[in-house]
Amino acid sequence: PSLTRIIVVSTISGGGLIAYSEANASYGATGSAAVVEIGTKKKKVVLLGTGWAGTSFLKNLNNSQYEVQIISPRNYFAFTPLLPSVTCGTVEARSVVEPIRNIGRKNVDTSYLEAECFKIDPSSKKVYCRSKQGLASNGKKEFSVDYDYLVIATGAQSNTFNIPGVEENCHFLKEVEDAQKIRKTVIDSFEKASLPDLSDEERKRILHFVVVGGGPTGVEFAAELHDFVTEDLVSLYPRAKGSVQITLLEAADHILTMFDKRITEFAEEKFSRDGIDVKLGSMVTKVNEKDISAKTKGEVSSIPYGMIVWSTGIGTRPVIKGFMKQIGQGNRRALATDEWLRVEGCDNIYALGDCATINQRKVMEDVSAIFSKADKDKSGTLTLKEFQEAMDDICVRYPQVELYLKSKRMRGIADLLKEAETDDGSKKNIELKIEEFKSALSQVDSQVKFLPATAQVAAQQGAYLAKCFDRMEECEKNPEGPIRMRGEGRHRFRPFRYRHLGQFAPLGGEQTAAQLPGDWVSIGHSSQWLWYSVYASKQVSWRTRVLVVSDWMRRFIFGRDSSSI
Ligand code: FAD
Repeated sequence: PSLTRIIVVSTISGGGLIAYSEANASYGATGSAAVVEIGTKKKKVVLLGTGWAGTSFLKNLNNSQYEVQIISPRNYFAFTPLLPSVTCGTVEARSVVEPIRNIGRKNVDTSYLEAECFKIDPSSKKVYCRSKQGLASNGKKEFSVDYDYLVIATGAQSNTFNIPGVEENCHFLKEVEDAQKIRKTVIDSFEKASLPDLSDEERKRILHFVVVGGGPTGVEFAAELHDFVTEDLVSLYPRAKGSVQITLLEAADHILTMFDKRITEFAEEKFSRDGIDVKLGSMVTKVNEKDISAKTKGEVSSIPYGMIVWSTGIGTRPVIKGFMKQIGQGNRRALATDEWLRVEGCDNIYALGDCATINQRKVMEDVSAIFSKADKDKSGTLTLKEFQEAMDDICVRYPQVELYLKSKRMRGIADLLKEAETDDGSKKNIELKIEEFKSALSQVDSQVKFLPATAQVAAQQGAYLAKCFDRMEECEKNPEGPIRMRGEGRHRFRPFRYRHLGQFAPLGGEQTAAQLPGDWVSIGHSSQWLWYSVYASKQVSWRTRVLVVSDWMRRFIFGRDSSSI
């Protein structure tokens, strides 16, 4: 569409709120001159976040009817699965990031603002933002941006569980800067420990590295650190020899609890062989400047440390907490969406990735209510006709239930329906127990309710939502959709379905555990090569792919760099 460009020269009062003009006009501010574009018919999509979910949405969106305004404090995408490798210099920080301005298709207008959103106002369709960097005279700039569609992909933050001292004394491993800080602190610790006139006790404290959290990130970091110490640092710092200790504290009974038991056992045995002290059932209660208190089997002990990496899971970001309160979801941990990733109770707002969760419980409650309503005589059973009417109602509202009915997991219902079949293929009118459907449906619920907070889920959701957006215009023009999808209330798109492709747990010493679909487990050096190939192939660009592979080769040839920069 042809755009009318009007140059408006105005003085923007410093630090004040800059409002984007209404009616799809977009705004660009440079100094005191503002360019306002009007007359565009493009729909404005505001995308919050440049992580896995946001970037996957951007990469896959392929429809020129949208203009995308990206807002994020980070002007790059970071390949988080390689952050543990960055902490020890196996891979360089710049090799795992791609500028966000390089991402996205040419036919979609995109622009980026380096800012964080601090408030979402669904009633006026605005997001309120604060620039990441302060401007010399006025501090950080605040402004609002209008949207037609809002895509929230702000991820989550590290969770400290409000344990005293964690925020002040621990390192987190969430962002690239965190990984860089850890790398510097590890090397600084070895330098400190090499200074003359240190007592053995003090040297041991400085070289005691504690990892809190036995999930995939904590375990991978402990393994990377062990390799860095044994393969590179110990030979360079002879005084440190014999004083280095890595301890992993885990509150549960095992590490890697989300993996197959064989992997958990292998990891625990390998860590024990490597001299990594895994303390299971240890709950951290307090962190002081030089020691950490942990409760193990009712007994509190105080452990001196040099560095702690806190990796115990994720919590909600303040902007999401505030938004959830506004829309009546204040008691939740993440934004509840339906299965099309639309935020419940809001128009044109979508949420995906770690900041969101699909609310299956609500779907299942509705389904149960429909069954109960169909039971007109309140006998607890339905006739076949009543059952089919109820199912029609359910499938109109929730096509995903229809999909599950066809799947193996709904064998209970399939068997009951088979019972009703006569020899000539017609159906006899038998009575079907409501409770049996409900329990079969609750099995479905437990299969799909909790999606893990992983890059895999976030990336699949981003790609799914981009496809929905691509088809939105076509569906608006032809609201009834293809014949098989017609029916009052039926949604235009298939709901989001997650496809689990497996997961890895690198355990150090060129050994990785892989759990692939169908519970196929492989542990050892061959899985490490699989890990290398999968992570190389999953890079967001050819540039990062080449950088990452060359970093791996550099490490094989020259070892890791131990400079403290
Ligand atoms: P993120 O990727 O965290 O992105 C959030 C984005 O929102 C960021 O760009 C952030 O700057 C931006 N943002 C934050 N606040 C605001 C705001 N107020 N306004 C605007 N923008 C904002 N998953 C796997 O599947 N496999 C792995 O091997 C794996 N390894 C991991 C290793 C580490 C060390 C970590 C930390 C995570 C790992 N994960 C892994 C998990 C995976 O990284 C997350 O699940 C994934 O990043 C979630 O994607 P997201 O887009 O929801 O959030």
